[in-house]
Amino acid sequence: MSLGSIIDGKAFALKVREAVRQDVEILKSNHKITPGLAVVLLGEDPASQVYVRSKGKATIEAGMNSFEHKLGPLTPQEELLTLVKKLNADDAVHGILVQLPLPEQIDEATVLETISPEKDVDGFHVINAGLLATGGDAMVACTPLGCLMMLQETLGDMSGKKAVIVGRSNIVGKPMAQLLLGENCTVTIAHSRTKNLADECRSADILVAAVGRPEMIKGDWIKPGATVIDVGINRISAPQKGEGKTRLVGDVEFSEAQMNASAITPVPGGVGPMTIACLLRNTITAAARINGLDPKKLK
Ligand code: NDP
Repeated sequence: MSLGSIIDGKAFALKVREAVRQDVEILKSNHKITPGLAVVLLGEDPASQVYVRSKGKATIEAGMNSFEHKLGPLTPQEELLTLVKKLNADDAVHGILVQLPLPEQIDEATVLETISPEKDVDGFHVINAGLLATGGDAMVACTPLGCLMMLQETLGDMSGKKAVIVGRSNIVGKPMAQLLLGENCTVTIAHSRTKNLADECRSADILVAAVGRPEMIKGDWIKPGATVIDVGINRISAPQKGEGKTRLVGDVEFSEAQMNASAITPVPGGVGPMTIACLLRNTITAAARINGLDPKKLK
């Protein structure tokens, strides 16, 4: 039995980031535009701080401007909304990202809807969700966009394939379903109330797991020859590495699933690196569109 190939998200993300860097050069030299990404962080959540730091670093490495706004954990909602509106009006800022989760005094939906849809590089604004659902020029959420790019690279034409997405969040599951529908897949969205989840998964030519439960999807739930995208990032204890040590695993039982799959993303090194690469790509898209340019034809 041959093992499924590993979809190398890290290597693919480097290619995407190099293409972004080239587009930044073109925007700068031919159009006098330096794309700028503003990231807003409230509070001191360690994971969020790591994400914000790596986003800022990647933005600078791509040749763009990075604007970081760090606010205290008790910042009132009005103050955050005032900052977002200021960034909406700032011509040097093409993309705005408010790092989630937000502290409890802040209503997430209100904040996301205050971000100008054309600067909404996370793709979470209802207008972008609606455009995606109706086949318009949406800003597409970074994680599902990265998954789609890896699937396109691995499979090419996906027409007629059966896709099962486990998870129905607004940031991963639902936009992923829209994207695969756009690829002419027959799409099922499974969730915590789905009956016979194992059988649903076994019917999938393309399986996307976005649950947040370590190794919940078992190797024998994978249809022979299926392509598996594991979005989950779960930290579990790893006593074999030493006392108190941890390691990251996905939502899929990787080694067992690899025996059935034709291709599979690892965790880490799969979807994660592609998410940041797509954030940079979306910032280029925003900078181009705001300036009346077609992001696909920048030269
Ligand atoms: P959410 O918690 O918002 O959604 C989880 C989904 O999984 C829900 O729809 C839930 O169903 C479903 N679910 C929970 N338990 C089960 C179960 N036992 N059987 C079937 N479905 C179940 O998570 P996110 O979508 O935000 O994230 C999912 C995972 O992806 C997390 O591990 C997260 O860390 C990771 N992630 C990774 C990113 C990356 O860059 N690689 C980016 C974003 C997320 P229901 O709706 O019924 O409750």
